[in-house]
Amino acid sequence: MQINVSQQLKEPIGSTRNYTVDQVTDIAGNNSVVLGEVKLLRTDRGILAQSTLQTEIKLTCSRCLSPFGCPITLNIEEEYFPIADVISGAPLSLPEESSCFTIDEHHILDLTEAIRQYALLALPMKPLCVKDCAGLCPSCGHNLNQGACNCPPQETDPRWSGLGGMTLANSNISVNSYQGRE
Ligand SMILES: [Zn+2]
Ligand SMILES: [Zn+2]
Repeated sequence: MQINVSQQLKEPIGSTRNYTVDQVTDIAGNNSVVLGEVKLLRTDRGILAQSTLQTEIKLTCSRCLSPFGCPITLNIEEEYFPIADVISGAPLSLPEESSCFTIDEHHILDLTEAIRQYALLALPMKPLCVKDCAGLCPSCGHNLNQGACNCPPQETDPRWSGLGGMTLANSNISVNSYQGRE
């Protein structure tokens, strides 16, 4: 979302503006609709953007591999610094922080990059379609969220289904090597 802040930059410190955010942003390779409000506050150095946004990001469940929409709330608070003086157009020096957000020479404050960065940080490391996703059958690959398959019943916790064979193999090896040392 791009906002022209040339008027607000001429206003005294503390002046505020509110805008509605409704934009499509590319997040992790998917176009996601981002909705919410942003409040812009004139500071001594630039403009502080405070925003609460909702979006839904298309992810793949780490357990059953199904695509699903993951709702995410973004609480953005970033100060934007003008690179040019709003009246004279003279270049302004930016603060030391290497990665600060800027207001361009046309006095456009662009929220898109902040939205993208906050969304990437908010993404779950191990996305799950539902909290207790049943996962896939380790034998036939059937999605167990859609009901049981025809494989013989397994006693193991479905959350460990993918590790079942591995755990068994490892315990056999440790038993063998222990016996070998006897
Ligand atoms: Zn799942
Ligand atoms: Zn099965």
